[in-house]
Amino acid sequence: MTVVTRFAPSPTGFLHIGSARTALFNYLFARKNNGKFLLRIEDTDKERSTQEAMQAILESLKWLGLDYDDEVVYQSAREARHQEVAYSLVEAGKAYFCFSSQEEIAALRAEAMAKKQHFIFNSPWRNADVAQYPTGVKPVVRLKAPREGVTVVKDLLQGDVVIQNCQLDDMVMLRSDGSPTYMLAVVVDDQDMGITHIIRGDDHLSNAHRQQILYEALGYKVPAMVHIPLIHGPDGAKLSKRHGALGTESYKEMGYLPEALCNYLLRLGWSHGDDEIISRDQAIKWFSIEGLGKSAARLDFDRMKNLNAHYLRQKNDSELAEIVINIIEEDHAISNVSKGNILKAMASLKPRAELLVDLKQMALMYVVDFPLSITAEARQIILNTDENLLMQVRETLTSLGNFSKDVIQEKLKELAELANMKLGELMHFIRAFIAGDVKSPSVFEMIEILGLEHSLNRLKK
Ligand code: GLU
Repeated sequence: MTVVTRFAPSPTGFLHIGSARTALFNYLFARKNNGKFLLRIEDTDKERSTQEAMQAILESLKWLGLDYDDEVVYQSAREARHQEVAYSLVEAGKAYFCFSSQEEIAALRAEAMAKKQHFIFNSPWRNADVAQYPTGVKPVVRLKAPREGVTVVKDLLQGDVVIQNCQLDDMVMLRSDGSPTYMLAVVVDDQDMGITHIIRGDDHLSNAHRQQILYEALGYKVPAMVHIPLIHGPDGAKLSKRHGALGTESYKEMGYLPEALCNYLLRLGWSHGDDEIISRDQAIKWFSIEGLGKSAARLDFDRMKNLNAHYLRQKNDSELAEIVINIIEEDHAISNVSKGNILKAMASLKPRAELLVDLKQMALMYVVDFPLSITAEARQIILNTDENLLMQVRETLTSLGNFSKDVIQEKLKELAELANMKLGELMHFIRAFIAGDVKSPSVFEMIEILGLEHSLNRLKK
């Protein structure tokens, strides 16, 4: 059997990182088994589905490197097929037209509530004869679900999850306007797409039994089901907006690398011994349902940043310089000189950064095309620097035969001695001018990379 998994997002908002993790697990399971990973956009809710959300999902998957096989399936395009399946069940006597109105059902519900009874709608139309059908009323189509016995979902992670059939009503498959419900569409699409394994959040476990009943009514083989615990916030509560940015693209904006985010999400809910750093290739080799955790995992931003720092350091300088230059150029184009400077500086910059935004901030110190941005602290130092000392620094640099960081360091050390200062004290001033900040990578190296002309330009009040 070829494994076929799917990711089935509803395009009603950004790609939540919980969904990104679901996509990752489906991707890894398919790749591990040399199977297929399919994408289905569940866009049947026409009011809530948007083009932007669809785009955001596709872009996020691309950014995360979760490439899917075959064409994207749009659920809304399959309505006719969903209807065909529903009517075939009516024909087979396994589903029926129900003419009860919402009001009637609401009244029955209120009655049961008043008696403190659990409400299950038992449609009077379940076994009605066509001759009894009213005219001028548009019916819904309901599945004739079993009223007795139990339904057992054999979840590969959660174990057997049992429900008494008497607790389930006859679910609606087609609304009175003929549109399919999510329950019907999901089953028909999973069947038609040949899905063998459904891996999704455990918020869908409550749908699994009804879906299984429908599979059985249709005579389809029920795919293997895996319901994974949701991600919780750092405080242990269910992840919500108040825990900060949740869309995948926000993590991109915050400066995470996709490989770091994928590694983090993988470990959040799945483990392979004590391994923390797991490359995509290793993940594909090692991924298994058995490694999934049964309890909800908590987001830990410090760990996420640590992992990102690791992946930053692993990238080679030119690749990283290109990424950072692209980020800078989203705002302003920069010259080849600046780009060259950033590349030269990268080896010193990358161990100092956790996120790409940190790296961008430092890289801007090497851009010579527009004025350096200067922090308030550095500005204070600049204002208090003795003009005479500044002139001596400029003269020292101008007189250098060899403009290398070692020579720069040596000569500035001599200057500090002459001025009766510690080298650190002198560099405190110089750093403010050269880097526009009170912390930076080695100023000697910065001066070397910037070159004489640009260094002198900065060493002015
Ligand atoms: N469209 C559903 C969602 O976005 C997923 C359905 C499923 O995985 O079965 O939550």
